[in-house]
Amino acid sequence: MSEPSVFTRIMNGEIPAEVVASTDTVVAIKDIAPQAPLHVVVFPRTDQYRDVVELAAGDPQLLADVISVANSVAHEHADGDFRLVFNTGASAGQTVFHVHAHVLAGGLTEKSVGA
Ligand code: AMP
Repeated sequence: MSEPSVFTRIMNGEIPAEVVASTDTVVAIKDIAPQAPLHVVVFPRTDQYRDVVELAAGDPQLLADVISVANSVAHEHADGDFRLVFNTGASAGQTVFHVHAHVLAGGLTEKSVGA
């Protein structure tokens, strides 16, 4: 068994986080190292999908849930416009292999492209 991901540990209450949305299937938290005025990560409650490619193939409805929560968070915490980033693979910057979407919003600049 591999170690639980940081996001699983947050869901289990082992690590504190600022939860901004929570549904039966998805959790959204403020990113600890924000790259934009609003920077939230949205992840499924299950850690069985490493990245968005696996998630799309394995459970498209759950991917749709991630996107729906991203949209809600951008409307509640910014002006509703947002950039959605799924880093996929280590050399693309992925560090947590529990699929998650970065929601970047609120006065974005070009600097915030590489979440
Ligand atoms: P990635 O590099 O795409 O895998 O994204 C992982 C993200 O998780 C990074 O933006 C980190 O800043 C964020 N992160 C890691 N640990 C925590 C934590 N304990 N609370 C909130 N965000 C975190």
